[in-house]
Amino acid sequence: MFERFLVGKTAIVTGSNSGIGLGVAQRLARAGADIVLNSFTDRPEDHDLAARLAADHGVVVRYIQADMSRGDECRALIDKAGGCDILVNNAGIQHVAPIPDFPVDKWDAIIAINLSSAFHTTAAALPQMRKAGWGRIVNIASAHGLTASPYKSAYVAAKHGIVGLTKVTGLETAREPITCNAVCPGYVLTPLVEAQIPDTMKEYGMTRDEVIQNVMLQRQPSKDFATIEQLGDTVVFLCSESAAQITGTTISVDGGWTAL
Ligand code: NAD
Repeated sequence: MFERFLVGKTAIVTGSNSGIGLGVAQRLARAGADIVLNSFTDRPEDHDLAARLAADHGVVVRYIQADMSRGDECRALIDKAGGCDILVNNAGIQHVAPIPDFPVDKWDAIIAINLSSAFHTTAAALPQMRKAGWGRIVNIASAHGLTASPYKSAYVAAKHGIVGLTKVTGLETAREPITCNAVCPGYVLTPLVEAQIPDTMKEYGMTRDEVIQNVMLQRQPSKDFATIEQLGDTVVFLCSESAAQITGTTISVDGGWTAL
């Protein structure tokens, strides 16, 4: 699908040294886009990842370190990239606790990384997209941007917030060849989700399989995880001309979760 139609475009994917972000970056590279990978770390393996991606797909790939919890670094990431045709706001973290016990520093970090970062990168990217006369913004939200779960106050608030920001960005760019949409995944087996499994096993006295089937996929009618590849394909579709009239909206990749 959509082979190499993004040659000559530059895509910046925040939080892309693992999980969904890396998978989306790989899929965009397969479609021919030059890539900027990002995270808050600056390890040799981050730069190796960029070199491997470039070699695999014959595109230019750079790794730019920037902490998405800081507005100035979000904006600097876009400036350092020297061009931004496609922006994928993907960086995200999670913490689970009842509201009275929810650590304030965790609340602040989740809102900053999962929501405010997208405001800052979008503000910095839109002038570049307007200058180039084309742009695509894809915000990786969540089924938790449309529904709620107890103990995930900051995550649910941030993801609902990014769905709202997506609508406003879509409206502010509606008369231009720029679109902004949110992709709302259900559960995808990434490092972020893997990290939740041991605690849940302990809390409920369940096996790994029981946690996956009875807790995680309990809300997902398909009873299966969405895959990173399916999310990459969805982002690439949103970057295509077929999706030029899709803006300010959400696409759920959640096995029916939000239909319930
Ligand atoms: P992940 O932990 O594999 O990836 C998160 C990425 O964000 C990593 O690359 C990490 O380095 C980066 N990151 C974290 N803090 C950062 C910071 N301060 N600055 C820059 N980068 C930072 O998790 P994932 O599951 O791939 O999550 C990616 C996105 O998808 C998140 O926004 C998450 O909320 C969303 N999502 C995931 C699922 C799922 O089931 N995995 C479901 C719905 C939504």
